[in-house]
Amino acid sequence: MNFEDINAVKKLLSESRNIVIVPHKNPDGDAIGSTLGLWFYLKSKGHNASVIVPNDFPKFLKWMPGNDHILIFEKHNTQSKDRLKQADLIFTLDFNHLGRAGQMEELLATSEVPFIMIDHHQKPDDYAEIIYSDVEMSSTCEMVYNFIEYLGGKEEITPEIADCLYTGIMTDTGSFKYSSTTSRTHRIVADLIDRGANNPKIHNLVFDTNTPSRLHILGCALKNMVILEEYATAYITLSQEELDLYDHKKGDTEGVVNYGLTLDGIRFAVIFIENKEEGIIKISFRSEGNFSVNEFARKYFNGGGHMNAAGGKSEVSMQETVDRFLKHLDEHKEALSKL
Ligand code: 5GP
Ligand code: MN
Repeated sequence: MNFEDINAVKKLLSESRNIVIVPHKNPDGDAIGSTLGLWFYLKSKGHNASVIVPNDFPKFLKWMPGNDHILIFEKHNTQSKDRLKQADLIFTLDFNHLGRAGQMEELLATSEVPFIMIDHHQKPDDYAEIIYSDVEMSSTCEMVYNFIEYLGGKEEITPEIADCLYTGIMTDTGSFKYSSTTSRTHRIVADLIDRGANNPKIHNLVFDTNTPSRLHILGCALKNMVILEEYATAYITLSQEELDLYDHKKGDTEGVVNYGLTLDGIRFAVIFIENKEEGIIKISFRSEGNFSVNEFARKYFNGGGHMNAAGGKSEVSMQETVDRFLKHLDEHKEALSKL
């Protein structure tokens, strides 16, 4: 953030405000961690702040400090709309265009209050008055840490804020292993531990809480995996029927896409997950090296994200979606074989 933006934020926050903080639809650890971390901080500064998420979030995040104060737009519709109406400042976190806010898109797009965007996805839209966007950042949580520091509030990071920010940095970096993890990321994480983040507890609560349904779905996904060595690619399909058979719960498929990349020689991993209720196939893409899944998702599957982690969707059947994918994959065969 430049000096001018920091001063503009300071000015906006110099009086008590009604603030709404919104993350993307299907919020993950970084989305929930960053919104709650910022929420605790703004509340401690005397603001009347609320976190409103477009739809529900997974059970493995439901231990997070403050999570029971989150309004779920899909569920707490009237209350959420009232809060949005009262808002005089809106933060959007961990996403780059309003379409990512799902059912909240229209209300946000027609709101006339100032917006502040904090986000690390590529190609941000320009709906916000203040845009703190940095695609080099490991996570939005790392950016919220910086944001608090820019406002001179580092010493006011409480154990609750530290737990929230640690969680999002941990999940978005794949436990500090992705290339977005810098020495500064580690310094920030060390500082968060000094300020009270309970790191072993967080790892345990997020990763060691498997359920029978999650493990059965993982087993099914791995059995369905198709390995295309000549394309350095592995893809997985999960049909609605399979998800129902194993009693699927929200969050059960989180991270499953990454297994493809653990195979030697595989640089591109994809998972297709059928969602009959929404009438879509939700797709996650992961890559290693310089094959941009952000561009792939954007170009062919109405999505986007980061260079090595992106998502998208398709509105045709699973079979047709996979056929289209294979056609586009073939167009990139040369690039993939060189990775
Ligand atoms: P995931 O595959 O874990 O859902 O998402 C990977 C990354 O891509 C995340 O940073 C997420 O925010 C982004 N992403 C996921 N789905 C979409 C989508 O449909 N559109 C866009 N623009 N980004 C997405
Ligand atoms: Mn993120």
